[in-house]
Amino acid sequence: MGAFDFVRDYAADCPKCGRQIVEWQTKDNVLPYLNTVGFRTVDNFSALCPDCKTLIFIKFRTKPPEQREHSDYGVAFVVYRAVEDQDDEC
Ligand SMILES: [Zn+2]
Repeated sequence: MGAFDFVRDYAADCPKCGRQIVEWQTKDNVLPYLNTVGFRTVDNFSALCPDCKTLIFIKFRTKPPEQREHSDYGVAFVVYRAVEDQDDEC
């Protein structure tokens, strides 16, 4: 038995019976503690269809290169003064 968070604001149809699933769980967070999180904050979540008991996994899909927009990219980190003036400090 593991802890998990609830995922809100996401709906998908069960691929087997077509029932709309709106209650999901995720274990993506480092310290899962039965919080409710928005689906945009996690990459993976899952649900058990209440009707047909199919286990459905949802995974964030990155876009293929031809669909990527300039705004899909952002600064991940920076390295200051990586190539100049490494003479002082340390
Ligand atoms: Zn189903």
